[in-house]
Amino acid sequence: MGLGGFFKNTFGKKTCTFCNGECGMLNRTKIKGDEYICGNCDDMCSFHIQKYRFTKDELRGHMEYMKRSDRIYKEVALNGARSERYPSATARQGIEFFDDIGMFRIIDGSKDNNEKYPKELFRYDQVANYEPYMEESEETDSNGKTKKVFGEGGIKITLVGGRDDTTTMRKGLRAHPYITEEITVCFATNDREKENYLRYVDNAIHHFNYIFGVNDDTNGLFSFGMNKKEKRDLMGAIGFAKTAVDAVKVAKDGGELTDEKKAEIQANMNAMDDAQTGGLAEYTRRADAAESKIN
Ligand SMILES: [Zn+2]
Repeated sequence: MGLGGFFKNTFGKKTCTFCNGECGMLNRTKIKGDEYICGNCDDMCSFHIQKYRFTKDELRGHMEYMKRSDRIYKEVALNGARSERYPSATARQGIEFFDDIGMFRIIDGSKDNNEKYPKELFRYDQVANYEPYMEESEETDSNGKTKKVFGEGGIKITLVGGRDDTTTMRKGLRAHPYITEEITVCFATNDREKENYLRYVDNAIHHFNYIFGVNDDTNGLFSFGMNKKEKRDLMGAIGFAKTAVDAVKVAKDGGELTDEKKAEIQANMNAMDDAQTGGLAEYTRRADAAESKIN
């Protein structure tokens, strides 16, 4: 390619492979297979994926996935699911938990009120890790004294990627179909916001801990009897024993199962799942139910 061709290729107009619209150098992204996506079509994708990793067909599938996510948010989450928001309102970012459907989303003050962006939900059972982060720099004042200056802070979330080995992770996790990079949720971007907003980071981490059963195996100082984990393990053991008895019966009688009996067996099997996954299976069932409401 000659120099003229190089410039034309780099700075010239391209056609968006999705809408066939023209896109200039500043509002396009190159995707796999030497094709381009324009800014408008880009807005239909997750903010957390790297487009260059995907082909046109894959991104088309991704846009459908985002449409479904937007529908689950509007038709299921907003339709009676309880939500907990940290913070409740912000110009930055935060996290909104929907325990009733086993999913969360990232609040974004700059985009949430704009209808054109599809809302993106993440399943609790896709979360591999979450931790608070804070970036600080050192500044030297005129007296030669150095002090720490707050840069930004929030939570970093890692989802289970398609290539991750889930056998080495907590039981019951599943891979996210598209996101492989760490997600940064920025709660505060300057010193003024620091104190106000970082306590919401604590709240959100606390809620993640609650979902994933962290601290379930500790007894409160003044509580007697079983802790949450002990109860869950006991219910799991009972569930296993009952299911075994039912299985033997069915095998013996060539069993016709009543609906009542089927429901009982399902409940016992769920208790076993809960014990094995540290309680996460309950949220998996809720997320599956929410997804199945959208065809
Ligand atoms: Zn386009």
